[in-house]
Order: sequence, then structure tokens, then C-alpha cells
Amino acid sequence: MTTKLYYESAYIREWETRITHKLEREDGTYLVLEETAFYPHGGGQPCDLGWIDKIPVLDVVQEEGVILHKVERIPEKESVGCRLDWDRRFDHMQHHSGQHLLSAMCLEVCQAETLSFHLGQDYATIDIARSGLSQVEMKMLELEIQGQIYLNRKVTNYRVSQEQAAALPLVKQPKVTDDIRIVEIEGIEYNACGGTHVMATGEIGMVKLLRAEKQKGHVRLFFKCGYRALTEFNIGTEILGSLSVRFNTSKEEILDRIEKWDQEQKQLQAELNAVKAENDAYLAEKLLAEREGSLIKYAFADKPLKDMQNLAAKLSEQADVIVLFVSNADHKVVLAQGEESGLACGAFFKQHLAEYRGKGGGSDKLAQAGFSTSEDAMAFYHYTAQSIN
Ligand SMILES: [Zn+2]
Repeated sequence: MTTKLYYESAYIREWETRITHKLEREDGTYLVLEETAFYPHGGGQPCDLGWIDKIPVLDVVQEEGVILHKVERIPEKESVGCRLDWDRRFDHMQHHSGQHLLSAMCLEVCQAETLSFHLGQDYATIDIARSGLSQVEMKMLELEIQGQIYLNRKVTNYRVSQEQAAALPLVKQPKVTDDIRIVEIEGIEYNACGGTHVMATGEIGMVKLLRAEKQKGHVRLFFKCGYRALTEFNIGTEILGSLSVRFNTSKEEILDRIEKWDQEQKQLQAELNAVKAENDAYLAEKLLAEREGSLIKYAFADKPLKDMQNLAAKLSEQADVIVLFVSNADHKVVLAQGEESGLACGAFFKQHLAEYRGKGGGSDKLAQAGFSTSEDAMAFYHYTAQSIN
């Protein structure tokens, strides 16, 4: 049986041991060690990684009490030196202890039980038995937790019998019935847990609540502890710094500046719309004067579809004409007609578009189509002009 060093101390990160079994499986090579500090997946905590004789450990799983280490290849010697990826492990310890503290405070401050815990590479979450959580409650929760971190309460673990466990105010009844491992945060809680923990709450550093999401009638709380919380803070500071430079103002003024910028944009858009309308009026006059028969056609270098549609509709309302536009830059064609030409624009497009690899349609009065090249758009434009003239 492998000695589980992570239960002797969560701080063992280097040790010498022997390989007791080597297994070749379909999905890779596995080793069993006499002693291991590599924690396998379990209890919401991901496995440790590291090196066995400098060979990377890829995965650690537990099967019927045996810890299997998946390795890139088998070491040459039976006696091996092992080393944990300590940054990864310490991150897990900060988050697992952080979760216990967070769950305990959720119960105390919000009277909400924790239903599940997830710790992944990107984010850590707990689901709590509440239908919602306000920003004020989140702030209160965060402050309570931070207070407990600053008190630097001891986190200890020990094993008890079923009878001894029954006498403790456990957070949840354990699944195992014998040799129950208790993780105790001094003065806070007794929790039956098999995970790796820090020695005192001060080592958690910080529990930062990021957001609360509603999840099937519960609340999912996203949080980051310790170094991850620091990284999150650094990313936020960098973004704020870039925005400060971009808006040439202090970070406190950024929101006001964006609000102002938004107003300016709205005003500019209104001015642009007025200029466009004026321009369209001149253009409409010119096109009506230069028309040949009942067809008005024009090839724009670059005019958005919406603007072509507006102008075409305006012209066909003003006179009994058929209007045909193409925009070269975005390969779009628009066809519009007044009441009396007898042309069904949408039906005409549907009938002929496929030959020109175009897609579109519309009503009897107004139709539009898009093409993947300007050559196809222009060819369809010329074909339409010829067909309806
Ligand atoms: Zn736990």
C-alpha cells in the first residue's frame, strides 16, 4: 500500500522513494510508488503534477486506494527522486481552504448551504442554496471572509472514529464510516474532507468574489484566492491603465468620459444622418432629371445597403420609376419600383440570382441581393438593367 505523504503534511514537495509497480495500459504508462505526495483527482480538487526522476507526471488517479502516476516514460532506476509542481499544488491548497472559509461564511452571513464545489484551471466556483445574491451581500461576504483571513486562524486535520465524528458539529455527514479525516478551521468549522489545505487562513491571502450567476434555481459564486486573485487584480489594473491612456484621464474619470463620448457619438450620428438625407435629396433630383425612360440606374463605388434601400424607396415613391443600384465595395444590388411598373422585384431576383451566384430576395416593391465578388454584382446589375428596360 502506498504511503500517502500528503496526509502527513501538505507541505512535502520533494522526497525519495521506490517504484513498486509499473503498468503499461492502452492510454499510457503508470507507476505505483512506495510513498507519494502526488494528490489524485478527488473531492473537487484536481490532481497534482510534477516529476518522477525528472520525468513529467501527466496525471494522478486513485483506483481502489492505489495511487497511479501516469508518466511520459518509465525511469531507469527503481529508486527515484520525486518533486511536486509546487505552484500548482499551493494554488489548490489556497483555493480548497478558501472554499471551506467561503462556504462557512455563506452559511453564517447568508444562511446558504454549499451544494457543490468546482476547482478548475480557469475558475473556481461554489453553488449555494439561494435563489439570488445582491451586490451588497457579496461585499459583506467578502469583508467577513477577509476578516477571518487576517485573524490567521489555524487549519488542522486529524482522523476520528464514527462515534467521535457524530459528536462534532460537522458541515456535512461524511460518506466514509471509519477513520474519518476532519479539516478544522479553528473557531469556524469542522469539515470531513480529504483535500490538501494550508496551515492557517492567512496563507489563503485573499478570497475575491468575482460574480454570482443564477444556475438552475441556485447561485453560482465565482471566486479566486491567493496568487490567482493577485493575477486578476493585475489584469484589471492593466486594462484600466490602458483605458486611462486611451481617454487621457484618471481611472476615476473613465466612466464619465465614456458617457460623454457616447453622447458625442449620438450627436455625430444625427448630424451624419442629416447630411446623408440632404445629399440623397440632391442625388435624387439629379437621377430623376437624367433618367432614360422609366429606369433610374446608378453604380456607387461604396454605399451601404441601408442607404441604397432608403434612396431607392424615396425615388420610387416620388415618380413612376424603376430604380436599380449597385454598390461595388460590398457587392450589393438593390431594385425598387413604384406602384405602376408591373415589375415584381423580389420574384425577379429569386428567378435570376442563382445564375450570378447571388443570394437575396424581397417584396414586389423592394428587393436586395448580395454577391461574393463585385464582378458577379456588376454582371447582375447589367443583366437586370437590360432585362427590364
Ligand atoms: Zn474540502
